[in-house]
Amino acid sequence: MSKVAIIRCETYDEAKVYDAVKRGVDLLGGITRFVSKEQKILLKPNLLRPMAADAACTTHPAVFEAVVRLLQEAGLDKLTYGDSPGRGNPDRVAEESGIADVARDYGIPLGEFTTGKTVHFAEGQFVKRFEIADAVLEADAVISLCKMKTHGLTRLTGAVKNTYGCVYGFNKGEGHSRFPNVHDFSKMLIDLNTLIGPKLYIMDGVMAMEGNGPGSGTPVAMNVILISEDPVAIDTLFAHMVDINPDYVPTNVYGAQMGFGHNRLEDIEILGDDLAGFVNPDFNVERIPVADEGGISRLKYLKGLITRRPAVKRDKCVGCGVCMRACPLDPKAITMAEDGAGRYPKYDYHRCIRCYCCQEMCPEEALEVKTPLLGKLFIYR
Ligand code: SF4
Ligand code: SF4
Repeated sequence: MSKVAIIRCETYDEAKVYDAVKRGVDLLGGITRFVSKEQKILLKPNLLRPMAADAACTTHPAVFEAVVRLLQEAGLDKLTYGDSPGRGNPDRVAEESGIADVARDYGIPLGEFTTGKTVHFAEGQFVKRFEIADAVLEADAVISLCKMKTHGLTRLTGAVKNTYGCVYGFNKGEGHSRFPNVHDFSKMLIDLNTLIGPKLYIMDGVMAMEGNGPGSGTPVAMNVILISEDPVAIDTLFAHMVDINPDYVPTNVYGAQMGFGHNRLEDIEILGDDLAGFVNPDFNVERIPVADEGGISRLKYLKGLITRRPAVKRDKCVGCGVCMRACPLDPKAITMAEDGAGRYPKYDYHRCIRCYCCQEMCPEEALEVKTPLLGKLFIYR
């Protein structure tokens, strides 16, 4: 049985966010149940790419500040913070998100996320080696400050996926080519969470991101903060809140199968506010399983014709090439082409592994995930 605190919070007003986070953490036994004064604590927000806080792409600075206050008021002051962004260097992303300002106010240094070391993990059920950022290795404890968003690969991205930012630099991209199948990628994420073992996960769902997430979607009020030691339980409740079958999120399934967390309501004790008060059936997320894509992906030529894939909106594309550089394959599945309307990314869909790094990183919201007509007719009916 896992406990999750669900706390209503309808604003990023600092005092109200602090009250909400404190209420949730207290319901779970108080902050010193999870971390202690002697520990160096790393706060790990979602800093996916350089975006302002109101885009709902990154963890809001008010949530970061609330957790910092809670820790410092309890005398826990050996704090650092940071993330390994998909695009942009960590300090620039922290600046744009507004988190760097808060960190300066409270005297918290940015950890080193551009360098790291290989960590061998014999206990890993699926993966035995990770490239972990120095900031994570130097910490005694991690608190994950995750964000409630949609995701092209895993449908939703929340608590489990936030830990992927503990892998440093280009190794994140390499992880996609090492684990090109969403099922393997999800199992890897569970092993990574087991290795890092964040002491607490605090999800910012005050404003979530729906639609073309995790970078180019639309902010939507979900008015909630979720707190737990169990990230699978948090992500499962997130799925219920946005009315998608939790089993369509592969990290929920493998998280439970691998004995890491709970993905059934009967195994989750809810503290605080009632789950039913947060259910939003209009939340824009693709309510289809990922299982078929994984199976079909093994049939190279069918894959190009049937499975969901990144697609460019030419009217928005400025030809910057960020998508091509984000592609982790070698050679890449994108080449930049040019016609009368300008430069644009041209896809080799037979090569493409559907990791959606390109769609995540496009700064112009010019990439979306689409299902080809054949796929709509035969697979995703
Ligand atoms: S990143 Fe976006 S805007 Fe830039 S070339 Fe690719 S699709 Fe176009
Ligand atoms: S083209 Fe996009 S989705 Fe395909 S492998 Fe490259 S980054 Fe991933």
